Amino acid sequence: MVEVIKSYNSKGWSPATSTNYSFKDETGQIWVTKSGIDKSIISVEDFITVSDHGESVGEYSNVKPSAETLIHCVLYELFPETKFILHSHGPFPVLVSIKLQNEFSVEGYEIQKGFPEVSSHVTKTVIPVISNNQDMTYFKQELSYRKSQLNNKCFIIKKHGTYAWGTTLFEAKRHLETLDYLCQCEFLNTK
Ligand SMILES: [Zn+2]
Repeated sequence: MVEVIKSYNSKGWSPATSTNYSFKDETGQIWVTKSGIDKSIISVEDFITVSDHGESVGEYSNVKPSAETLIHCVLYELFPETKFILHSHGPFPVLVSIKLQNEFSVEGYEIQKGFPEVSSHVTKTVIPVISNNQDMTYFKQELSYRKSQLNNKCFIIKKHGTYAWGTTLFEAKRHLETLDYLCQCEFLNTK
């Protein structure tokens, strides 16, 4: 996980201490990144345990978790099979989202097959776009309401970034990178 975060940082996907990441261990405990960590030098010590409601717990109860921890908790609740959640502030999803309302839709790209429910490029894939908000309870409401649209295990937050998840780190990576690549293609194509 730490190696993935560092590689994403080197792509420019987590500038200025932004983004957050989490995983569930074999006991079902959620581990999330601390608030305000420089992702170019992140280490395993920068993950802390949080409750299902996003409060730091155990030996980390005095440590502040990432500001967006509740989004992770909501995703674990909505999709209980999830083990890894990745977040990106990559510029292409942010740029492409400026003109989008509610959804990002693509068709005809080979890489769409990187999403879990797509087996052919001749498919229209729709990824939800959610407005940005500093109130994390807004995301809880919005993600719960739009759960049926989250079947590709990722979404975009407008002018903010992307979230993707999976039952393995490999799967979560594939979803995040597929979405980023599609945003890049669409942005450069319509520029
Ligand atoms: Zn963010």
